[in-house]
Amino acid sequence: MSHISIILNVSKSISGEIYMITTLPLLVVGKATIDKAVSKIDSCILCFPQAEYEFSYVLDLVRNAGVNEEQYFLADPVYCPRCSSQIKEHTLVQISDS
Ligand SMILES: [Zn+2]
Repeated sequence: MSHISIILNVSKSISGEIYMITTLPLLVVGKATIDKAVSKIDSCILCFPQAEYEFSYVLDLVRNAGVNEEQYFLADPVYCPRCSSQIKEHTLVQISDS
């Protein structure tokens, strides 16, 4: 995993001036961590409407991170183990009981 910085939220006012630039640290999540996180979930919001955790929270769990102060960036596409929908960083997922 490596850290990169990226400039997000570049917005322009009506007159064309840029008025807000935010720099956030992004943590690029590699396949090994993604695989661990996927093994902990069993469904996503699309196939289980009661799903209540963001996928980024599951990444915190498998990384033993505390409160997430970082933005994750998934280096590889992630798919729901049940319905194969694509899961993004903030997709709600259900953590499996086992
Ligand atoms: Zn699903």
